Amino acid sequence: MAVNAGSSSLKFQLLEMPEEKLITSGLVERIGLKASVFTIKVNGEKIVEVKDIENHSVAVKMLFEKLINLNIIQSLDEIIGVGHRVLTGGRSLTDSCVIGDKEMAIIENLVDLGPLHLPANLTGIKAFKEALPNVINVGVFDTAFHQTMPEEAFLYAIPYDWYETYNVRKYGFHGTSHKYVTLRTAQIMGKKPENINLVICHLGNGASICAVKNGKSVDTSMGFTPLEGIPMGTRSGNIDPAVVEYMMGKKNKSCKEIINILNKQSGYLGLSGLSSDSRDLLVAAKNGHKRAILAIEVQAKRIADYVASYHCYIGGADAIVFTAGIGENEATTRENIISRLAPLGVKIDPKLNACRGIERLVSTDDSTIKVYVVPTNEEVMIARDTLRLIQQ
Ligand code: ADP
Repeated sequence: MAVNAGSSSLKFQLLEMPEEKLITSGLVERIGLKASVFTIKVNGEKIVEVKDIENHSVAVKMLFEKLINLNIIQSLDEIIGVGHRVLTGGRSLTDSCVIGDKEMAIIENLVDLGPLHLPANLTGIKAFKEALPNVINVGVFDTAFHQTMPEEAFLYAIPYDWYETYNVRKYGFHGTSHKYVTLRTAQIMGKKPENINLVICHLGNGASICAVKNGKSVDTSMGFTPLEGIPMGTRSGNIDPAVVEYMMGKKNKSCKEIINILNKQSGYLGLSGLSSDSRDLLVAAKNGHKRAILAIEVQAKRIADYVASYHCYIGGADAIVFTAGIGENEATTRENIISRLAPLGVKIDPKLNACRGIERLVSTDDSTIKVYVVPTNEEVMIARDTLRLIQQ
């Protein structure tokens, strides 16, 4: 079972391993609120139930009841491991690991690094431990894949003591996705992962670029928190930090309030004044909405900046890879980014690029760098790591 627990949500996928076959998937939303929504997909059909679900433990119990009642499994013994997506492992949990009391305590101590996500991740782990006390729970950290970044990439040029004493450094996120896409792209290109250099564009609501050299992450655009890097659905990405103090004064707001605006009211939403969703912006842009066009162009420019710089940093990319909601589905966004990289000799083929949600080479034969669309699959990566640790 691969689990992604948010503060009021719980996403799950049950996979047959090692075949990596999806058995069922679903989502519980509005946990702790009135009229929670439980959705489960069985044989392609969505079953939805609306009822009050008080907390994550109740959600997990309901999930197990459904799995049995809908004949998806005959007994809970069939679930041999649960893998949990965890936002960050900080400096000490550098790879996926079995979560025992010691690891729970370490994650609890890291809450400052992810005050929104980590308590939710912990709640999810506790709920599954309670419901299945004899089953191994594994933590799969969004930061783990980026642990191979060299110091020159992960250190900020700030007083060194901030890093040594307070752990302030770039951690990076979306690592599970970047790792899956690295392994899958190597397979598609017929190369060993240790021989592949990639620039991966994970473009979803949250978005990050990753520089992969010899199969390992050597730099990524998100930082100490997911706020750094390129503009996203509602996040600003990089800005001059002095803007924070300046706007605190102008708007008479606290630092926390300004950071909240940079996280939740910026990016696509802030620039366009319209929506955080790329689909809305693309429609509006077609109809000539100036600020929607601006939001799209600002993001594409910043993505192209990162791709060009990472291409140099890794000594030349074998491929540029697009993944996640926008990367997999938005042909115009891919084209906009790649056309900005024309001086590198990289070219997209409009016919090949006219695709959604499938694995495909989308560059021309004479492109100097191949361009691929590779749908991500974080759940499979979580299930693989869970199985690996159970076998160990
Ligand atoms: P996250 O996991 O960070 O919430 P996703 O990877 O689901 O984000 O990506 C969401 C973004 O992808 C939205 O901006 C959405 O508009 C865009 N998108 C475009 N086409 C699709 C599609 N067919 N399905 C889902 N998201 C899509």
